[in-house]
Amino acid sequence: MNLETFIRDIPNFPKPGILFKDITPLLNSPEAFAHCLEELVSKTPDTIDKVIGIEARGFFFGTAIAQKLSAGFIPVRKKGKLPYTTISENYSLEYGDDALEIHEDAVRKGDRVLIHDDVLATGGTAKAVVNLVERLGGTVVQCNFLIELEFLNGRKQLNSPILSVLKY
Ligand code: AMP
Repeated sequence: MNLETFIRDIPNFPKPGILFKDITPLLNSPEAFAHCLEELVSKTPDTIDKVIGIEARGFFFGTAIAQKLSAGFIPVRKKGKLPYTTISENYSLEYGDDALEIHEDAVRKGDRVLIHDDVLATGGTAKAVVNLVERLGGTVVQCNFLIELEFLNGRKQLNSPILSVLKY
């Protein structure tokens, strides 16, 4: 299956100079979605306790991956969105600065955690989530992405194994 045909390039969104990778055509195709999901779950390490999806586009596949792996799902969200007690990490991304939060009881000491997001760009976002997991005593066993923008070298920020379905 030629998955690249399901990724729509949007120039200058959300800011001038950014080529936005729009995954909504992929979400709109049950065949393409199933193909990606299979790629993402077939190459994971054994025994994953928790899958983290990063707000917002990491939620689409994150919950599906968690179900397939019989793991719990954890949303990591932008500042102020989670209702219970949180811990927080500041981060910078390809187009701005922000903070990400996780519920303090979502990851238990010793949990083996998989982090998922739609796009790996500079790696700042995923790195912040790794820090959140490690502060709660978990171990990141893989970070997986639908798309990796290789020219931004996001991999260099991450020590854990990385899986990306599509590379640009
Ligand atoms: P970064 O922290 O630079 O790796 O950026 C990753 C985060 O920003 C992910 O949550 C992506 O959803 C989003 N993102 C960054 N660059 C793009 C892009 N070119 N197209 C779509 N999403 C992007």
